[in-house]
Amino acid sequence: MSKTKSSESVKVVVRCRPLNRKEESHGPAGGIVQMDLGLGQVILRNPRAPVSEPQKTFTFDGVYDASSKQRDLYDESVRPLIDSVLEGFNGTIFAYGQTGTGKTYTMQGAWMDPEKRGSDRQYLVRASYLEIYLEEVRDLLDPNHDTARALELRESPETGVYVKDLTSCVCKSIKEIEEVMNVGNQARAVAATDMNEYSSRSHALFLITVECSQPGPDGRKHIRVGRLNLVDLAGSERQAKTGVQGERLKEAAKINLSLSALGNVISALADGRSGHVPYRDSKLTRLLQDSLGGNAKTVMVATLGPAPQHYDETLTTLRYANRAK
Ligand code: ADP
Ligand code: MG
Repeated sequence: MSKTKSSESVKVVVRCRPLNRKEESHGPAGGIVQMDLGLGQVILRNPRAPVSEPQKTFTFDGVYDASSKQRDLYDESVRPLIDSVLEGFNGTIFAYGQTGTGKTYTMQGAWMDPEKRGSDRQYLVRASYLEIYLEEVRDLLDPNHDTARALELRESPETGVYVKDLTSCVCKSIKEIEEVMNVGNQARAVAATDMNEYSSRSHALFLITVECSQPGPDGRKHIRVGRLNLVDLAGSERQAKTGVQGERLKEAAKINLSLSALGNVISALADGRSGHVPYRDSKLTRLLQDSLGGNAKTVMVATLGPAPQHYDETLTTLRYANRAK
């Protein structure tokens, strides 16, 4: 795959949420993130450095500041991906960033297309919702989500990598898709009350399969299947804080592993080194194998907070996103 071609299939954009009330009350420091929307640049100020020190600048395929709307992100960065899913290709949108920076906020609205679609086409849409926690796959639509056993990844020549026994719901409208999403979100919320920091430590994958049938030039029905993966990643904050031991340390290592495996896969794809893409290094990348690379499109939305106290995490997020370009 040539460089230009692969970089078209991986887009990296950055979004910064507004300062929240609590952060505003911390004083007049304001935000440390500035954006140049025209140039697609993020300018990061180190609150501990002398004013004379040059600020760090990163360039991306798109940047969205605190005043940006879901619609802006959708129109500019997501629409081509959705269009290609409707044409029968696979597409994945990731939200990557520190907990509290807007991953879930961004993912739960940025992908919907309010427009009506082509007339002579018929779509069959199915939705599944799963999470990966500590390298175990769980079905968020299983009513016994809490106690259900972990699901297995399988591979077949026809369907590629899939999750065995995963629930799949036929949806006839955007509203029905939202209902399915709500069921899964409830399951996550229940788990979160049982376990500290649970939702920031698991990856949530909402999978939408779109089967399109359309009469071809020969008058016969042609069927194409595309898949849209919406991935709300675990928080990118450094998990292994000092003093963490035992199970918690093992957990931390696994979360860091899947995020770094994803970074490696995306950066290999963005470089055009598609011969050596290390998909098998984590459940997340293995499961998404058929949707990353090849004809598939990927959009990574890196989310940031503007508060000075998160400078280090924000810089780490920008570096990760920069590497994925
Ligand atoms: P994360 O999923 O990364 O942990 P959330 O999506 O839960 O973060 O966002 C944290 C808080 O910030 C929520 O209260 C959310 O409503 C708010 N928020 C996030 N992004 C934005 C935004 N772009 N504009 C306004 N509020 C936002
Ligand atoms: Mg979240």
